[in-house]
Amino acid sequence: MKNIYDYIILGSGVTGIACGRVLQQKNNNNFLILEAEPDIGGLCRTREIDGHYFDIGGGHVLHSKYDDVLEWIFNHIPEEKFYKMDTKVVIQLEGNEVNFPIELNLWQLPKQLQVEYLHSYITAASQDIEYKNYEDWVKNYLGDKIADNYMIPYNKKLWCIDISKLNTAWLSKIPETDLKLILKTIVEKKANFDESVVSHSSFYYPKEGGFQTIIDSIAKHVKDKILLNTRADTIRYDSDSGLWFVNEEFVAKKIITTIPWPLLDIQGLPEFDFKSEMDNLEVLSNVISLWERDPYTHDNHWMYIPDPEVEQHREFYIKNIAPHSKEGGVMTDINYKRWLENGKKWKAGTPLAEHVNVWSYPLPTTIYKESIRKILDFTKDYNLYGLGRWGQWQYFNTDQCIKQAIDFFENEKDFDYFKIF
Ligand SMILES: Cc1cc2nc3c(=O)[nH]c(=O)nc-3n(C[C@H](O)[C@H](O)[C@H](O)COP(=O)(O)OP(=O)(O)OC[C@H]3O[C@@H](n4cnc5c(N)ncnc54)[C@H](O)[C@@H]3O)c2cc1C
Repeated sequence: MKNIYDYIILGSGVTGIACGRVLQQKNNNNFLILEAEPDIGGLCRTREIDGHYFDIGGGHVLHSKYDDVLEWIFNHIPEEKFYKMDTKVVIQLEGNEVNFPIELNLWQLPKQLQVEYLHSYITAASQDIEYKNYEDWVKNYLGDKIADNYMIPYNKKLWCIDISKLNTAWLSKIPETDLKLILKTIVEKKANFDESVVSHSSFYYPKEGGFQTIIDSIAKHVKDKILLNTRADTIRYDSDSGLWFVNEEFVAKKIITTIPWPLLDIQGLPEFDFKSEMDNLEVLSNVISLWERDPYTHDNHWMYIPDPEVEQHREFYIKNIAPHSKEGGVMTDINYKRWLENGKKWKAGTPLAEHVNVWSYPLPTTIYKESIRKILDFTKDYNLYGLGRWGQWQYFNTDQCIKQAIDFFENEKDFDYFKIF
């Protein structure tokens, strides 16, 4: 007789691992985590390559506005085992380097440009309009100078889609500034912001290994519950017993999926047009490359590059974030479509290593939300739940994934999938 698990969790990224660990902390050990890959961690995986800590999902740092999440993480890996740094990010702008957030650092530009950018910002800020979509917001919120020379070219490189298809709900990631604050920075010649303005004005990074060290420290408690190299292909609901069968091999009362919904073949449920809803869930794929350059002469953590002539849209200075990593390590991000268009070639030569992330960003389009809401509302009546970046199809960071796992098991029946937006 097969074991009937209380929960089968699909995926062992941070969401799947956090779900298992929270269940265990609630004294439920009757669960199983299935992972398709030979190792855990998903987008939070790190490879050590020739002394460089290469975060293969892209450069990751830890920051959170949720005290309960930070406390939970620090219970697994003590705070003193992290570097804590004030974030220093730069943007390439018309041949100059300006710190992020751009609107609070216009004072760093040559004087004539300061006047032009400020004039453009004030003109835009005096409009009283409702933004229809992301493109509308970009064009009208920060003024045409910032839009034309940074936001539009940068977002074209990052998303490689028509940005009018993106919604504005995820703008909680964008700094909250206003004209008074901006004028203050120009007069004082300093940005002078805190967490209330920029959500990640400081961050943590493990003193040992890469970002994956955080996931490993949580996963070690549940490692005997994880089956690696085990891809969930089909999940079938048996209406007589009310049980779920994964690949006709594993049986559970409840399923939590943290993997992308479109990868799942869901069987046995009453009529529901999954296909049409899943067609509205679009994904961005990206490629992360590792380079070894000369030792840096700056203390930046990462840089945004809007210039269409440069292949990558972002570069990440590993040694400034992880001082135990080797000199000169740089990770670059490029949209998969641009990478293909460039014939997978780089003007800078051949990287030390490269990793393709097919499932990188759930696209925050103007139409996805209704579809994911319908899927989650329908499936929860059958004890099938979606959590995390893919399960909820939200542009979550790791802390938000953990927050969802903690909150879900507090209030499973009436869990509000969209509360944190
Ligand atoms: C470029 C980039 C930069 C980021 N930077 C940060 C940052 O600085 N800070 C931060 O906190 N967050 C950051 N994030 C977000 C963070 O990576 C995600 O929020 C988080 O890793 C999502 O975890 P997850 O477990 O929900 O999904 P994933 O990490 O994608 O995990 C899903 C898991 O499911 C497995 N899987 C897939 N299909 C199957 C199947 N059929 N059967 C079984 N298993 C399967 C996968 O192999 C994977 O292990 C960044 C993301 C990206 C793309």
